[in-house]
Amino acid sequence: MMDYSFLFSDDVQVMEYSAIRRMAKLAMQPGIISFSGGFPSAETFPVTEIRDVTASILETEGKAALQYGMTLGHSGLHEVVLECVQARGIPDAALNQIAITSGSQQALDLLGRLFINPGDCVFFELPSYVGAIAAFRNLRAKLVGVRQQLDGIDLADLARQVDQERRQNGRPKILYLVPNFQNPSGVTLSQEKRRQLMELCNRENLVVIEDDPYGEIYFDSTVVSRLKPLRSMDPEGRVIYLSTFSKILCPGLRTGWVLASPLVIEKLDLAKQAADLCGSMLDQRIVAECWKRGIIQNRLPEIRSFYRKRCNVMLGALREFMPAGISWTEPLGGLFIWMTLSERLNSELLLNASLEQAGVSFVIGPPFFVNREGSNTLRLAFSKESEDNIALGIEKLAQVIRHHLS
Ligand code: PMP
Repeated sequence: MMDYSFLFSDDVQVMEYSAIRRMAKLAMQPGIISFSGGFPSAETFPVTEIRDVTASILETEGKAALQYGMTLGHSGLHEVVLECVQARGIPDAALNQIAITSGSQQALDLLGRLFINPGDCVFFELPSYVGAIAAFRNLRAKLVGVRQQLDGIDLADLARQVDQERRQNGRPKILYLVPNFQNPSGVTLSQEKRRQLMELCNRENLVVIEDDPYGEIYFDSTVVSRLKPLRSMDPEGRVIYLSTFSKILCPGLRTGWVLASPLVIEKLDLAKQAADLCGSMLDQRIVAECWKRGIIQNRLPEIRSFYRKRCNVMLGALREFMPAGISWTEPLGGLFIWMTLSERLNSELLLNASLEQAGVSFVIGPPFFVNREGSNTLRLAFSKESEDNIALGIEKLAQVIRHHLS
């Protein structure tokens, strides 16, 4: 067998198999009540509508849809994205600030390539999205953790960490955060903090990656209408706003986007050419047509209420069954609840017991922490299971926790 070990690049040495994927596989065993998969519910996918839209695209513009296209994406979808971000409170967005990517995950990878030299600092909330951690870790960025509070990132800790990096001759460059209904914690950044955060990032000259896949999946419009995207408070063009159709249509069409300064989009074009020449023109046309027919917008109220109900069932069951000393977040939207166990409990040991004794899965906390803390934390996704299974799964998990505590 060929020995590759001396041939792989230095970057490969730092790549890690996602603990979450490993756990997701475990959780797919039949009979398991899964709170681990971070997927949207397939029950929300408009399969019939997508079939009809696809057929009509193949009929009317089949050849163009099956051809290569522009690296930055199908122009019809750029117009849709513009409409979409304007509706989200970014009125000054423009077409030359948009790039379509293969999900927002590709945007994270490409942005890493644009900005990161090995050792450059990227600040992440503790906890943060594992896909972003992996994208920047793979490029040998220095990953620096910043405390998170119930109203979002701890600004004093961010200021402290940036200052410390500067004093140690570090190169603080990027702050990555998910301000709305964060994956994994469900926490939302308060409006007050959004303003202060932008002041801090202006002062410290940080690029801000605002990752917003869940913003449309809110449970109460009155709360969320007060929350403005960071990009809308950014006259300097330092915020790079990412979003995706994965949670509001379906992830299988692999369509996300970047809204950023044209200076960034220009370089992203170059990086993306080398990555894939262009994304799927068929997928992008399908998404654009779904928007034009109102399929995406009209279904949003239903999707919000679908997840709100599941979230409420999980919160109700947590209140009813969990023993004292266990706490959890109460998300305003999204797919996730974050649980903190008492200090002496370990979520990995608990997961083994939970799978064995209760057939209930979740994701342990440490992979979400760039400093590997969080051994007494875990993520519960309420997206996959039915309301009955959610209540049953939480009751069973609570029994396992009680057993562990005694
Ligand atoms: N960012 C966050 C915070 C996510 O949770 C996800 C999906 N789990 C993504 C980005 C990537 O999603 P996609 O590539 O499907 O757009």
